[in-house]
Amino acid sequence: MTLPLPHPALQAADPELAALVGAEEQLQADTLRLIPSENYVSRAVLEASGTVLQNKYSEGYAGRRYYEGQQNIDQVERLAVARAKALFGVEHANVQPYSGSPANLAVYLAFAEPGDTVMGMALPMGGHLTHGWGVSATGRWFRGVQYGVRQDTGLIDFDEVRELALKERPKIIFCGGTALPRTIDFAAFADIAQESGAVLVADVAHIAGLIAGGAHPSPVPHADVVSTTTHKTLRGPRGAMLMSREEHAKAIDKAVFPGLQGGPHNQTTAAIAVALHEAAQPSFRDYAHAVVANARALAEELLARGFDLVSGGTDNHLILMDLTPKNVPGKVAAKALDRAGIVVNYNTVPYDPRKPFDPSGVRIGTPSLTSRGLGTQHMAAVAEWIDRGVTAAGTGDEDALAAIRAEVAELMAAFPAPGLS
Ligand SMILES: *Cc1c(COP(=O)(O)O)cnc(C)c1O
Repeated sequence: MTLPLPHPALQAADPELAALVGAEEQLQADTLRLIPSENYVSRAVLEASGTVLQNKYSEGYAGRRYYEGQQNIDQVERLAVARAKALFGVEHANVQPYSGSPANLAVYLAFAEPGDTVMGMALPMGGHLTHGWGVSATGRWFRGVQYGVRQDTGLIDFDEVRELALKERPKIIFCGGTALPRTIDFAAFADIAQESGAVLVADVAHIAGLIAGGAHPSPVPHADVVSTTTHKTLRGPRGAMLMSREEHAKAIDKAVFPGLQGGPHNQTTAAIAVALHEAAQPSFRDYAHAVVANARALAEELLARGFDLVSGGTDNHLILMDLTPKNVPGKVAAKALDRAGIVVNYNTVPYDPRKPFDPSGVRIGTPSLTSRGLGTQHMAAVAEWIDRGVTAAGTGDEDALAAIRAEVAELMAAFPAPGLS
């Protein structure tokens, strides 16, 4: 298929918008997308999320709705729920949260009262806004206490986490985050949660696909609740799920609806069902392991080029680079790499002396390039482009960035993206 993809009705009704969609298709095809929270969904997932299921209101749950005409919608949601339960080995799954942030908000509604103490990893250490960080509603309406990683190792210090939990007695402890390059020890968090009487929530938004594919340990049965988005390594539509043991099923369902949301986005539920079906195939296990193998290979190549990686490398899909030794701020590097056709995001590193909107680091990941079929044999070229791009960012060499962009586009043309081919 050549780009832009055919969208005949859209083209006829709104050529201005159709042109923007076409330009985005071309951009996603031509560039090396290294943002670790992004991916390429399949054509099947795209089609499911663009169906007339979106015309239907269905507040409630399958068999218990507030609107009639649910003959098909109930089956769609039951299919998604059954597939989530089978894939992750959980007793209960709610597939209705609109996205990861509302899913986490539902967890607060289920297990805490405003003003209660909650605990999570600090945002600048790699946690998520919704884990009780100050600018988030979760940090304003609850009393967030935060743990981090050790400065010398870049790893979580479980003695510190335990001490904090026993002192502060949080209602909820969140583990998981957005910039954690290492395996999460769910069992260690579960011990601490049990000792301190907290509900443990494993927020696996980033690594859900790795867990489904057996490339990262599962939080089941350690965590009371598993929260995840569906659009990162899991390679589904933008959405989320909350999973738990049966004992918490009622509290979670009540919190999502009617506690927080109205009608579920049925077209998204359908696309989640498709993505879960894809993730249950043997080929997805290969995908998950290839994501990690690529990240490890890329980390080695970057280390060989003198890059400073937080925690010294990676166990998963993500690499956090501290560019301080390269004398290039993260934002300057990210913007230059973007001009070179390499899409990354600037990110704080633990104990960052710079400001959050102008930090020292860059965060990269391998889910998207692995979806296109790039393998470990390509990681030297990727590291080389990053190295040349960061150097060019420092010297302001726009010609070098343009040269990289052409080389990137040439390689990517040989690896068509799912959903775009
Ligand atoms: C992405 C992410 C979220 C939020 O997801 P949105 O869909 O962007 O609201 C929550 N927690 C973690 C750990 C994430 O990585």
